[in-house]
Amino acid sequence: MDRIPCNSCDKRVVPRLWHYRPFLAQIYVLPIRYMKTQHLCPFCGSCMYETGGEVTTIGKLVFALVVIPFTFLLVFFPNAKVDEVMGYYQHYCIVATAVVMYRPVKNWVLRIFKKT
Ligand SMILES: [Zn+2]
Repeated sequence: MDRIPCNSCDKRVVPRLWHYRPFLAQIYVLPIRYMKTQHLCPFCGSCMYETGGEVTTIGKLVFALVVIPFTFLLVFFPNAKVDEVMGYYQHYCIVATAVVMYRPVKNWVLRIFKKT
């Protein structure tokens, strides 16, 4: 097995893995971020490095369709009426969904056609 030098105790070790939920891992049932993994030194217990914690596709959609537009509205147009804004919001949702979903859909299509 590959051994990695520990920065604290200078031994070459196989790290122990510790999975945990990062900040904003989940909003109700929506997974916003992937689990994070700490790579711990088995001798001194220090965290050598961390992996994971990236934002999921659902998380990107939540930010693009809810957090960003409503923050923008509240900051720049606090007196806007719902009827006036809904048309723009629908168009914005179509564009934002296309931008966020382009890469995952492209990867799914490529994966499907590679296996068959
Ligand atoms: Zn160590």
